[in-house]
Amino acid sequence: MTHLTLQAVTRRFGAAHAVDNVDLSVPDGKLVCFLGPSGCGKTTLLRMIAGLETPTSGSIHFAGRDITRLPANQRDFGMVFQSLALFPHMTVAQNVAYPLKLRKTAKGEQTRRVAELLELIQLPHMANRPVTQLSGGQRQRVAIARAIASQPKLLLLDEPLSALDAKLREAMQVEIRLLQQRLGITTIMVTHDQREAMTMADEIVVMEKGRIAQVGKPLDIYRDPVSEFVADFIGLGNILPVTYDGAGSVSLPGGRRITVVQPARVPDLASDIRLLIRPEDVCVKPATDVAAPNRLAGTVTFIRDVGASLEATIDCAGFTLTAATTPRETPGLALGMPVLAELPPHACKLIAARAAH
Ligand code: ATP
Repeated sequence: MTHLTLQAVTRRFGAAHAVDNVDLSVPDGKLVCFLGPSGCGKTTLLRMIAGLETPTSGSIHFAGRDITRLPANQRDFGMVFQSLALFPHMTVAQNVAYPLKLRKTAKGEQTRRVAELLELIQLPHMANRPVTQLSGGQRQRVAIARAIASQPKLLLLDEPLSALDAKLREAMQVEIRLLQQRLGITTIMVTHDQREAMTMADEIVVMEKGRIAQVGKPLDIYRDPVSEFVADFIGLGNILPVTYDGAGSVSLPGGRRITVVQPARVPDLASDIRLLIRPEDVCVKPATDVAAPNRLAGTVTFIRDVGASLEATIDCAGFTLTAATTPRETPGLALGMPVLAELPPHACKLIAARAAH
């Protein structure tokens, strides 16, 4: 069992809690993303798992053993950080072989393993090239090969793709994910990019101010966020202040009432609540369609047309909605056009409002 568990892990810097009372269990063989805005404690949490930072309190267990105070070099974890720290004076093969050399692996075994790793990252033809002569994406792959050379039980990645341009970054996301799945290596990755987390993770840990805001599968978090903070951070969403009128009905800004599915999550309906509806759930209908509950009259004020998909901003007098649609679904959609925006009750989620600062 190589399971990683964190219990009440806290790290203070002076009076500030960088990480505050975090409990977490990372399943074997999965890729888990720590996701959150700058300063929420993602890196500090990862560094404590790595052994580069010591918790102020709490404990970290790995494979049934308390590793809270075990030095980093005794943990046998692979790491890739934003600044890759490849050795610039070495070739690709020498970089990848470095951890094996440190462990005094037999020469023949080193050669065999390096060849295998270079095959894995699809750079076998570049073994003897200095790393300074590689592209950003190639360097990234070498850094990962080096991190997994000694077959670590846990791979820790801190924003490993942030230096790459958008296109390469997306390609590398898929590449790392496929590699991770092929090797079955438990991996924790820090990112502040929600799309990256959605693409790569089995589980996302959303962090807010040193605490865990929500843990779950990407789509579960997207579909059912526990708070306005999580809803806002994961994906695009229409988030509207509403008042609950009882019996599955809410009043929108401006006074229109719509029905929603009875909320399961909102603990206190008398408190500040928000209605969340994702753009793809807003159905845009011609204004001439029959009026019906949950169909709101509005005017198209902006259209972002990216070919296969359309994003329309609809002014509903009192609030605006973003609707994701396609030219096929809404032919002839144009600026200034009156429309009906339908909010299906099952797609309307009520969530607790973000606490006032
Ligand atoms: P980013 O995405 O910007 O890297 P993060 O979510 O990884 O942010 P951390 O780097 O973990 O956040 O920092 C969390 C908080 O702890 C921040 O407020 C930061 O200023 C503080 N902090 C981190 N390291 C130290 C340190 N060595 N000394 C003092 N404060 C620190």
